[in-house]
Amino acid sequence: MALIYCPECNGAVSDRAVGCPHCAYPLQAALPIEATGKKWKGLALFAIAVATVGFGMAGGGVRGDVGARLIVLGVMLAIVSRVGSWWQNG
Ligand SMILES: [Zn+2]
Repeated sequence: MALIYCPECNGAVSDRAVGCPHCAYPLQAALPIEATGKKWKGLALFAIAVATVGFGMAGGGVRGDVGARLIVLGVMLAIVSRVGSWWQNG
């Protein structure tokens, strides 16, 4: 454990701290958590979009086989995004 200096108030802070204990300035740990969260949320939204297109195609009857495959792909992507966000959050 090492001490670093807060860029806001110049107070001594542990390098493992999420934020400065003196002025509550957010330190490095806050950023990666939000970045991974958005990545998995984006994948979940993509999964919903793929499944929706699949349902539209299957419902139309013209491209029923392609639609069914897109629904399966969408469900798989949704599961991956769920497992991925769960894994990242530990
Ligand atoms: Zn500070």
